[in-house]
Amino acid sequence: MDLRETDSERAFRDEVRAFIASNLPKDLKEKSEVGQRLTVEDGQRWHKILASKGWGAPGWPKEHGGCAWDHSRQYIWEEEMAMGGCPPLSPFAVKMVGPVIMAFGTAEQKARFLPPAVSGEHLWCQGYSEPNAGSDLATLRTMAVQHGDKYVVNGMKIWNSYGHKADWMFALVRTSTAGKTQEGITVLLIDMKTKGVSHRPIITIDGAHILNEIRFENVEVPVANRIGEENKGWTYAKYLLGNERALIAQIAQSTKLVRRIKEVGAKELSNGQGVIEEADFRSKLAAIEVELEALRVTNQRVLFEARTGTAGNGGAILKSKGTFISQALSELMLEAVGYYSSPWVLEQFDPGWNEKPIGPSHAKNAMPLYARQRANTIEGGTEEIQKNVIAKQVLGL
Ligand SMILES: Cc1cc2nc3c(=O)[nH]c(=O)nc-3n(C[C@H](O)[C@H](O)[C@H](O)COP(=O)(O)OP(=O)(O)OC[C@H]3O[C@@H](n4cnc5c(N)ncnc54)[C@H](O)[C@@H]3O)c2cc1C
Repeated sequence: MDLRETDSERAFRDEVRAFIASNLPKDLKEKSEVGQRLTVEDGQRWHKILASKGWGAPGWPKEHGGCAWDHSRQYIWEEEMAMGGCPPLSPFAVKMVGPVIMAFGTAEQKARFLPPAVSGEHLWCQGYSEPNAGSDLATLRTMAVQHGDKYVVNGMKIWNSYGHKADWMFALVRTSTAGKTQEGITVLLIDMKTKGVSHRPIITIDGAHILNEIRFENVEVPVANRIGEENKGWTYAKYLLGNERALIAQIAQSTKLVRRIKEVGAKELSNGQGVIEEADFRSKLAAIEVELEALRVTNQRVLFEARTGTAGNGGAILKSKGTFISQALSELMLEAVGYYSSPWVLEQFDPGWNEKPIGPSHAKNAMPLYARQRANTIEGGTEEIQKNVIAKQVLGL
């Protein structure tokens, strides 16, 4: 297995880097450089700029408006995007529902939903989890009953990211209670503006409104919005979850965070020296960097397996290790900014609040980042579930 970048991959990296340097809007770059939270709107704005270059869906085939890049190019693209400070793109359309529509959707569904996914016009959300169906997803109870050419949906989804902003949801609903729980599940594409869809915000510990409870009260969904066959949704849902897990490895984001920790750690804190001068801190950072390098190689191996058709269950390994690394780095960032990580009022970092700006500019986001990264243990399948998958499907226990 040769993991070195080829000449043409290096040339591709240069092309992506040059495009980002001349096209990423200045305000987004500045936000990213001071570690400010990049919003879903920032991501959509950037997505539209990429789409105008023809880069809206890197991994998709050309016939559906994609770039048809291989895994290595997609990885290079993602690495350059993170290192260049680009807003992350919403994964729901391009990485999650899009491939499912391509694989299992009708010709009409492909024509209707794929172009606005590539262009960044439609924002999607994922309606899987319910109050009593998370890890054990197949026990979900949101019911869809068919009346003529419509399903009538009643029930509730929870921990739904961006449902309050999304145009569309890909939802798992129950269409049968007969047989095994997995056998009565169907995938529906639900227009979030349909009468009877409502949301209640869930504010997370980092102070953000990303998550929601979504309620469906007699929501009418055309049968034409069903993906594939009725009661076969579990197969389509599993196809999508594999993609989701590989997404949460966050290798490029962690690489960028290492760089920021070094910058912030080199700055003078109130005790007269940057924390990077301390041997203990340096040794902790070095240990995580070694883990990150190992993850990068593991990722290359998973990509190589995908290229050569020998794919294993790399997604669970990438998710588990990637979570550990990103969380450890967010802790080191807290150490790097010292007591500036817990200000009494966040505005103390804003220009004009104090006579002179205080603390390193990254400090404002250090605690929200730390808090946000805790959720990586849970989203996209919890750590325990990943360990179960690794034990059974990778180690064969
Ligand atoms: C930030 C964030 C964003 C999310 N976004 C979305 C979204 O957009 N759409 C969506 O549908 N969902 C979303 N989720 C929900 C997420 O997928 C679920 O939280 C996750 O699947 C776990 O389900 P649960 O919360 O019901 O926990 P539970 O399944 O109730 O688990 C509780 C605890 O029990 C452990 N456990 C459960 N089963 C086992 C087992 N068999 N063996 C060992 N331990 C076990 C778990 O590891 C966990 O520690 C999001 C979650 C978070 C945190």
